[in-house]
Amino acid sequence: MVSNELLRSERESISEHCKRMLDQGLTTGTGGNISVSDDEGRMAISPSGMAYPDIMPDDVPVLDADGEVVLGDRTPSSEHRMHRMLHEGRADVGGVVHTHSPYASAFASAGEAIPPTHYLVEFVGKQVPVAGYATYGTEELGELAAETIGEEYSACLLQNHGSIAVGETVEGAFETVLMVEFCARNHYLAANLGDPIALPDDELEHLVERFADYGQSG
Ligand code: 13P
Ligand code: ZN
Repeated sequence: MVSNELLRSERESISEHCKRMLDQGLTTGTGGNISVSDDEGRMAISPSGMAYPDIMPDDVPVLDADGEVVLGDRTPSSEHRMHRMLHEGRADVGGVVHTHSPYASAFASAGEAIPPTHYLVEFVGKQVPVAGYATYGTEELGELAAETIGEEYSACLLQNHGSIAVGETVEGAFETVLMVEFCARNHYLAANLGDPIALPDDELEHLVERFADYGQSG
């Protein structure tokens, strides 16, 4: 029998970030999902279609490396295949956050990447790219997201859908979806004032070095 202590702190963190997702205006209804993986290939992921305020740590299912639920009674998120592919695709990924945040979703519906018109786009890379459309919950959507994020980015838009970010932790991925939404809204507002100015390539490269010692990490 699997102990209820398995991935306990990760399940607590998912439950807490589900509430933060609503508080920060990053989604509507039950849209979006959050996962954390461990180095044994297990993944805790938010339950499917449950109201965020109601999601308690015990409601967060844990899946084994074969995708079987080994802990919890809830049906896992319909996007568990996409999350799994992102966790398996890169050794540096331990947390994944998917949202339907309003401005990022508008760019996704227009099929437009978010250009580097604010320096904080560097949280993701030199832009926020768009993955092509596939039906939610499919393996195809997971493949498109994993290909688009690749090694170069930490997030992408999902055409006609929303955004998804990867991070070493769920906190990191959450911060990135916040930045994606900020950059989408900022570009949209700037475009209403005039022609937003894109940062040149050499400055975007310089920013990568600057970010390495930002804040308390220097
Ligand atoms: P779940 O409620 O199954 O996680 O699905 C929400 C969603 O955003 C699908 O893309
Ligand atoms: Zn979604």
